[in-house]
Amino acid sequence: MQQKKAVSGMLSIPEGVRALLETLEAAGYEAWCVGGCVRDMLLADLRMLNGAQPPVREPEDWDVTTSALPEETLAVFGDRALPTGLKHGTVTVRTADGPAEVTTYRLDGAYRDRRHPESVTFTRSLEEDLARRDFTVNAMALNLRGELRDPFGGRRDLENGDLRCVGAPDRRFQEDALRILRGMRFSAALGLDEEDETGRAIDRNRELLREIAPERIQAELTKLLCGRYAKEVLDNHPGVVGVFWPEALPMVGFDQRNIHHCYDVWNHSTVALANTPPIPELRCAALLHDIGKPAAFTLDEDGVGHFYGHAAASVELADGMLRRLKFPNDFRERVVRLVAWHDRDIPRTDRGVGRALRRLGEEELRLLLALKRADNLAQASAYRGRQAEIALAEEILDRLLAENACFSLKQLAVNGNDLTALGLRGPAVGRALETLLSKVVDGELPNQRAALLKFVTES
Ligand code: ATP
Ligand code: MG
Repeated sequence: MQQKKAVSGMLSIPEGVRALLETLEAAGYEAWCVGGCVRDMLLADLRMLNGAQPPVREPEDWDVTTSALPEETLAVFGDRALPTGLKHGTVTVRTADGPAEVTTYRLDGAYRDRRHPESVTFTRSLEEDLARRDFTVNAMALNLRGELRDPFGGRRDLENGDLRCVGAPDRRFQEDALRILRGMRFSAALGLDEEDETGRAIDRNRELLREIAPERIQAELTKLLCGRYAKEVLDNHPGVVGVFWPEALPMVGFDQRNIHHCYDVWNHSTVALANTPPIPELRCAALLHDIGKPAAFTLDEDGVGHFYGHAAASVELADGMLRRLKFPNDFRERVVRLVAWHDRDIPRTDRGVGRALRRLGEEELRLLLALKRADNLAQASAYRGRQAEIALAEEILDRLLAENACFSLKQLAVNGNDLTALGLRGPAVGRALETLLSKVVDGELPNQRAALLKFVTES
């Protein structure tokens, strides 16, 4: 969404959203930006004041809260408004900056199933609306004139880098257990430290996460894992992860008894995760790549630990864990392939890299190299020689791609029709194409039509 930069001391709401607030005010209602967008604007200001690099992200979406009832909002905006969540008082309004969600000030009734309030009551009081929100940093509202409503000290908490529940943490997590993971996610993404009571209540109430739909857990967990401070949050709360992924618990404190390693399996995994770019599949693979280690552990006569076959054990566990949280199939399959390949040696030759490229494709091979780099950075420092090997593999990859080397059937100089013309039929066509591709990738045949056809005719 296009918007002006938030400049220190001059919080700026994008033009389209300003126009929306003006329209509601002109019709006699109160209207405020609220929640995440206000938090992110204030944070951008704070960080700019402190000269932080890189600048923080811009708000993902613009939420507006208003004293207008949903039908009043609909009447004000006419065909620019869509009743997207009337039950909760939400109307989506088109603006020059994209859609904005406009929600009537509301109170949440008693909570059913730890996730959904039994009833929603509209109110004309902004303060009451702010009181239902999860964390103080998310419970601030800002209007057109730059007035900030902040009844719970969200700005102070943001300045001090604190994550604090609005109200009593136990009660708030018991109303809606998803807030446990949301809190960890905000802490991981924004670098906020959990205020003591909030942090303790996260652990005390973690079992309640069992009542939360796997899709919701998946969404928050993915954001958590991609946070810049994900490692710290995971290290603080392995027990929360253990509620939906009990397979992770044996990693915690598991001594590897091996000179390659300076961390237990859990810390090794979170350090590896911290060394990867924030790509969801990659972060997930980093956390899970060694999850099969405790089960694969053996100790030799010299008291040295080994983990023969641990990648296969990790694959099996990771697959089940990702299925449980209902990750999309392509996401799960990619993570599992990265886990399967994490410990495989890729020879630093055209053939070695070419074969990996053929199996994984460019994007995934680059993720694999990033995983290998991160895995190695999380091992004892005497083993950093691996970094040069990985860099060399990447150089070869870049060169193969620059040379437009053939690594997929698409790029092969012959296709199925050519082979059918030679008299091949059915599955024999596919098999012959695969053989040709292998030979080309391995450098045994040139990727030239005549040479390939000759090979097929003669074999
Ligand atoms: P993001 O930047 O990821 O969008 P956000 O803070 O805007 O973060 P949303 O999920 O978009 O998060 O929710 C918008 C606002 O609604 C929050 O800032 C918070 O005030 C309130 N909110 C959302 N979910 C909850 C919840 N489970 N309990 C209480 N308040 C919530
Ligand atoms: Mg939001």
